[in-house]
Order: sequence, then C-alpha cells, then structure tokens
Amino acid sequence: MVSDICLWPDMRNEADQDSTRPGISHRASTSISVSFGLLVKSRGAYIPSDQSTGRSQWDLPTQPTYPTAHPSASPPPAPGSAPAPSRGGRRQYPTAQIQQMYGGGGYDSQPAPRQTMPPGYPDQSQQQQQQHPGPAQYFTPGMASGDVKQPLSPQQPAYGQQPAYPQQQVDHMSNQFQNINMGQKPGGGYGDQKQLHSIQTVNLIGMQPDVRGLDAPPPPSLLPPNASVTQSPYTQPDPSYQRCTLTSMPMTQSLLNKSKLPLALVMAPYRSFRESDGDMPVPVVEDSVIARCRRCRSYINPYVTFIEGGNRWKCCMCGLSNEVPQLFDWDQREGKPADRWARKELNHSVVEFIAPTEYMVRPPQPPVYAFIIDVSQAAVQSGLVATAARTILESLDSIPNADKRAKIAIIAVSTSLHFFSLPPGATEATMLVMSDLHDVFLPKPVDLLVNLEESRPALESLLGRLSDMFQDSHTVGNALGSAMQAAHQLIEKIGGKIIALSASLPTLGEGALKARDDPKLLGTSKESSLLNAGSSFYKTFAIECSKQQVSVDMFLFSANYTDVATLSCLPRYTAGQTYLYPGFNASRSEDAIKFATEFGKVLAMPIGLEAVIRVRATRGIRLSAFHGNFFIRSTDLLALPTVPEDQNYVMELQLEDDLKGPFVVLQTAILHTSCYGERRIRVITQAMPTTDSIAELYASADQIAIAAYLTNKAVEKSITNSLDDARTLITNKLSDMLTVYKNQVTSSTGASAQLAVPANLLLLPLLMCGLTKHVGLREGSQIPPDLRAYAQDLLTTLPCQALIPYMHPRFYSLHNMPPEAGTIGEQGVILPPALNLTSERLERHGLFIIEDGQNIFLWVGHEAVPRLIQDVFDLLSYSELSGGKYTLPVLDNPFNQRVNAIVAKTRELRRGVYRPHLYVVKSDAEPALRSWALSLLIEDRMDHMSSYAQYLTTVKNKVGRFCPQT
Ligand SMILES: [Zn+2]
Repeated sequence: MVSDICLWPDMRNEADQDSTRPGISHRASTSISVSFGLLVKSRGAYIPSDQSTGRSQWDLPTQPTYPTAHPSASPPPAPGSAPAPSRGGRRQYPTAQIQQMYGGGGYDSQPAPRQTMPPGYPDQSQQQQQQHPGPAQYFTPGMASGDVKQPLSPQQPAYGQQPAYPQQQVDHMSNQFQNINMGQKPGGGYGDQKQLHSIQTVNLIGMQPDVRGLDAPPPPSLLPPNASVTQSPYTQPDPSYQRCTLTSMPMTQSLLNKSKLPLALVMAPYRSFRESDGDMPVPVVEDSVIARCRRCRSYINPYVTFIEGGNRWKCCMCGLSNEVPQLFDWDQREGKPADRWARKELNHSVVEFIAPTEYMVRPPQPPVYAFIIDVSQAAVQSGLVATAARTILESLDSIPNADKRAKIAIIAVSTSLHFFSLPPGATEATMLVMSDLHDVFLPKPVDLLVNLEESRPALESLLGRLSDMFQDSHTVGNALGSAMQAAHQLIEKIGGKIIALSASLPTLGEGALKARDDPKLLGTSKESSLLNAGSSFYKTFAIECSKQQVSVDMFLFSANYTDVATLSCLPRYTAGQTYLYPGFNASRSEDAIKFATEFGKVLAMPIGLEAVIRVRATRGIRLSAFHGNFFIRSTDLLALPTVPEDQNYVMELQLEDDLKGPFVVLQTAILHTSCYGERRIRVITQAMPTTDSIAELYASADQIAIAAYLTNKAVEKSITNSLDDARTLITNKLSDMLTVYKNQVTSSTGASAQLAVPANLLLLPLLMCGLTKHVGLREGSQIPPDLRAYAQDLLTTLPCQALIPYMHPRFYSLHNMPPEAGTIGEQGVILPPALNLTSERLERHGLFIIEDGQNIFLWVGHEAVPRLIQDVFDLLSYSELSGGKYTLPVLDNPFNQRVNAIVAKTRELRRGVYRPHLYVVKSDAEPALRSWALSLLIEDRMDHMSSYAQYLTTVKNKVGRFCPQT
C-alpha cells in the first residue's frame, strides 16, 4: 500500500525558475461598467385585518418615530442573573435613515393610548422596526447569504458591478468627508487607465448599522478588459467557493504592510451543491485532456494567453510557454474538431477534471466507515446507542455506495472493545470481546470490515439489536483511544472515515484523559490551557491517521466534561469535524431528532477521499500560513484523508517579490477521489488586478473575508496566548486598519469625533464587536471549557455563509411581521426583515426569533396576548407555556403556519449539516436561558462587555491616539 502523494504528477516540480511575466492578450475590447445606481424602494407596512378577532387592519403609520424611550423589553433580571442590557435613549441614530416603518403587529395586549388605531392594537410609537431603504440589487426579503448562486447567471448584476451599500447611510455621511477620487498611475503594461473602485467614506459614530449589508457581495475585482480569453460571465469564482480579503492585490509587500490590511484567501472549495439555491453543478471536463504548465503545474484557465497562432499557451502564473495538447480542440465523443472557446476550463473559474490513471498511485479507494460506539452505562442510558444504531440502519441506503464498494465496521467500546464479525451472507453478527486495551490487535483478520452490500443482513441484524445487547450495562468507563487504534488497524490499508460516538470522557486505555476543567481557571489567563490538548496522544495519533488516509469525526454527547479541546485534535488534523450535543437525552425528541438528522447527513454526504489541496499563484505571491482542519504535509501541500462538504479554510498570502503585471491569478486545486470511484481535480481560479494605491486597497477590501481571517487569527491567539490577547488582537487589528484609513486615505489628522470607514467595511466593526463577545472568545468565568472549545471549532471551520450569522445572529420580529413573511415567494419562504441586534427591538407583547445557525430562540414577551399564545403554541395563556427546547405544533391557522415556515426556512437556510435546536424563551422566566438568548444581541451591553456604541468609542480612541509609521 503506497500513498505517497509525491508520486502524483500534481505534486511534481513546484519550482519557479523563469522570471518571464505573464503576457496579456488584447483580442477584443469591452469595458467593465461600474454602476452605483441604486433602486431605493419603500415597502408598505401592513396590519392584518380581522374584525372577528379584534385584530388589526391595514394601515400605515402616519408619524414614524424613532427611537423613543422604549417600553421595557423584559422585567428586571432575576437576582444572580446577568444585568439586562441597557436600553432606551442610549443611542440616537440619525433620523435621516428612517424612511418608513412597519405599522406593527396583529397581536397586542395593550390598549392604544391614542385613538389613531382601533382599540386593542399596538401603539404606533412602540413600533420600532425600521424600514431601511433597500437597493433591490442585493436584497430581497428572504434572501440570505445562502442564496448566492454559483455561478452567477449573466442576468445577475452582483458581479462586475459596484456592490450595493446602504445608499442613504453613504449619502448621509459622505458629506462629512470628501469623496476620494483615487488618482493612480496606469498599471504596468496596459495603456488604459486602470479601473478603480469609487470609495465612499462613512462615519460610524452614532450610526445604526444596516445589517442587510452582510448579504452584499464583496467589491468586484476590476480586471483589465480582456484579462480573460473568453467573455464568459463565470470566470471568477462565486465567493461561497473562494474569496480574498482584498479584491485588488497590492504590488509590494511594503504597501501591504503599510496598509495594515490582511491578505488571505478564504475558501470552501468542496462546498455542497444545492439545487434549491439555484446552484449550477460544477462543470466537469470529461475528456481527460488536462493542460498544465510544465513548470509551475498550474491548470489551464481563462487567464492564460494563446500564442504562436494558438499552438502554444503562456502560463498566467509563471509565464512559461506551453504546448496546447493535441486533443484540446478535438471532440472525442463526436470524433470531429471542437470549438476551443467552448472548453469549460476556459469559461469557468470553478471546474472539475476527471483525472486519468497517472493521477493515481492505486485504484480509487471505496468509501469506508468504521463506527466506534460508546456502550458504557452513560451512553446506553442517554439513548445514544439506540439512536445511533437506528440512524446508521436507516442510512444504509444513503451512504455513498453507487458502485457497491462501501465498507463498514462497527466497534462497541466501554471498558473493553467489542468487535463484530459480519461474514457475507450471514444473518447474524458474532461479537468478539477484547479486554487488552494497551496492546490492541484485531481478534480475527477478516469479516470485521465488510462490504455493506454483501454483509447487509448481518449488519441490519446487529444494528437492530445493538442497544438491547448493552441495555443492562452498568459499565462505567470509556477506552476510546484504544478503540481508535483498533479502528485504525481495521481500515489503515484502505483509508476512510472513523466516526466515533462518545458519551463520556475517555478514562481507560490509550489516550485516557482526566477531568481537568478546574473552575478556578475560568476567566483567568490560565483558561487557555483548557483550550489546548490535555494529552499528546490525540495529535500524534491524528498524524498517524492522516498518513494512512484515515479521517476522524467526533460526535460527543457527555452531560459532563468530555474535553472537547483534546478530542477535537483528531478531526482537526485529519480533516474531520467535531459535533457536540451537551446534555444529550434521546428521550427528549428534540435531542434525538437533532442528532439523528445531523448524523444522517454526515453519513449521506458525498465526501472526497484521499485529497490534497494546493494553491498556486502568480510569481511573487507566496502562501505563508494555513488555518483549518487538515495536516500540512509539506510547505504548502494540505493533506485531507477525506474532505467533508462545506468546510472552510483560510490561507495567508505574502509577497516575496514585487508584482509588475496588471493582474495576478490564484488557483486552488483539490485532487481527490470521489466516493463514486473517480479521481478528480477541482480547480478554482481567481484573478485580481494589482494596485499601488492604498486607497484602492481599502476600496477593494472584503469585510466578510477579513472577518473570517481575523476569527481564525483570534482563535489561534486564544490558544497560544490567552483569550484576553485574542480579544485585544481583534480590536487592535481593526484600529490599525482604521488609523491607516483615516491618515492615509481621508487625510484627516488628529483627534476626531468621527470614526471613518470605507463603505465596503461598514460592518466590519460590528462583526468584530460580535466576535469579541462570542462564546468562543468572550470574557467571563462562566463558560464551560467544552462549550468554549466547541465554539472555537465552529469558528474555524464554518464557511462564511454560516460563520457570519454565527458571529452576528439574525433577529426577526414575528408578531407584527409584514404579511408576505412566512409565505412562499420566488426564493422559497420569505423571511421577515432582519433587525438590529439590540433588545430595544424587543416588545413585552411580542414574539421574536434570534438565531445564529446553531440555535434558534423563540422569544415570547410576557404580555403576549392569549390569542397569540393560542395560535402559535395551542395553549390557553402565557403562563401555561414552558421555556426550553421545543417543538412547535402545526395548527390550522395561518399565523402558526407562517411561524413554522420561518423556523423551517431558518433551519435549511445555510449549507452544512447543522439542525439548530428551537428554544422557547419566556421573557420573564429561566434567567439562564434568557441571558443566553440576550447574549446574542451583540449591539447591547452585556455583563461588563461593551455595547456596540461603546466598542466604536474604544476603537475611535485608539484610532485617534496612534499615528502609524509609514
Ligand atoms: Zn506556469
């Protein structure tokens, strides 16, 4: 068995020796249009009319007010609970932003003090929802970040156009600064003046952030005309595959250093395909004609140049002239000449090649799954064993197995190891118990890892009986590490996935751990020791796994400390994933459904096998650091024994040489074996113009990618240094950027009452405020280490689409949502408008959703009218409602169905396997749950953590104080 990646052609000869610069073709001439025209559309506000129930009528507020001292969102906190966030009169936002407001709700318990509304309806002055002026290009109700399409259809204006920023904010503020017209020298080689972004400066102080901007696409890469050899609209990747913190590339490292902006690629190259999102499948090049540069091994792409009458192509990375392959212009299927310009790899940024045999060192491996199931007393009693066995049984048909090669093994573990012999054709499994935990060996050479198809009867029988077999187990103890070694021995010759399900801390055998969660450490500088691995076994073992193409997924269920920080090393270095189910109890249907849904999705996922990722770039650009779940095999080769869908990676870039050309190209290649037995190469090519202007760098910065980059840097810092240092890093990096912007781009000096940002970074301070208050990094001595470590796992693996809501949750008002919310629109269920994350929006009689992709909180105001409680929960009154994990009933009334539709839409909004729990939060009960929900409202003050307004002041003061070296 040989799996040395170095044998693959893909890995050969990475040296660049030629200093030839990329050449540029001028085949045609078109210009990139830069549009800043925005459609500002106001939507009406509606109140449903129903005389029989005394509910409201269609009406518009006559006198919008905003914000006034707000009625109490919730009662004073119970003793010992977190203080309620401050509210009311704390901030005044410019009224210029307010165009129109929703008329308000259909449900209210309070008589209207003024007779502008019929009795029984909310006072308009209490309606706080703000209608933002909405540029129609990027925002439609219900559109989420998940709705970004790949590739964009030519009709969609999101690319090649200026991203739409909230126009009114920009208008309002830009009069305070001169708009900067960035003069720039023409770029090297091009006669034309380079396209530049227009830069809009916004003052953040006193400004309410427009959270819809989080869905806006990054600033476009303004490439020179004809940078691409085809005029295809798909020559740049959708940002859900890959985006860069800057969409213009600095020409020198010193310019980059001076700008204080980060330079990093943020990517989810193996992201899932969702037809419901309008995704187009990744185009597949099937004719085995793979043109690659002889020297730098880049794949041919839309940014190469054809020379010598089209017989040769010049590499856009290293400039080498290469021969065009003989069959490049030949249709092998039809046996006739083909149109070169129709080739997929010249028209698409994201393509997949089917690799011929020289890309294989062995035949494509089958998908292999070795399950380790904890059968100790804790696991059996929590219902884990029964739920896991049932889910595997029900997933046997959805495990990728089109060619009937998938293999399965099951090991049960407590204080000893239980193997199961599943011979082909047998109807029953035989159990073999091994109690030697320190010198693990397999009890028999065959029938432990079996073909799913051939051994299915025995497998089904075993899975049906597994829970009963251990039902009376009173065994306390978990030899997880020894079971891992056994599973590794079972599958090491093929590679594949170990999926471990564990309900208790591993206390026996190899890799035994101690409960080290000393509460005295929490909130101190020593807390970071709990975020580091407590045993070297798991990292060492993980590297061993990676070598043998074995990946590990951890599903952790313990009610007590289970040392997520240590156990998550296995997924981290083997490209797996960690899943945590705190306090799991399958007798609670919500727990069972969540786990079974997520586990089932993991089993059905079309994983890539035996993968490596390498990024190539134009000469002068070097990859300097990598973040994500993989093992770095050589300086820039990332090894992923299996690749899950929708996992995120961040790669930092440096310039080791000045960039002379007008644009650069970055290419990510992920060589993998599909679970259907094909060797494939997914290639993502991205081109970016170069610039020597700091202002242009700022105007091209992508706030979402920067947020993802800083998240990874902060988590890293919290582990190597301390949580305190991590939070300081976030705020300092932000202040550094805004200092440079203020001094170098706006040319204002000295202290100022304003905090200037470019409009494209308008929401970065809000995201950074959210990040410093995230459970993964937040200050405080109350966060259990397992929850902290798990949150950090998510922060460093979620793709942007899920990461951004995880740090800046979504907040909706339901009791007064517009009538179309919760109904079906063109893009599925329409969501209500997202609110700013402040409890000022909460109303005592209202119903709200706060969700971050991992949990959904349904907030019920304690003055909610009985009718609302009845319609939503089928209960007579608020007092009958109990908080906590909840399953909403489906009732025969439109409001209930709309709320259910919104919850369902929220659960499927983003790619990934996660199925968020729904918690009902009563505004006057369960202080812990209440505090948890309120902690997601990141614009508020929380404990001793600052509000967004205070955070901005902190940043502004830092910006005023420092004058960076230039
Ligand atoms: Zn090359």
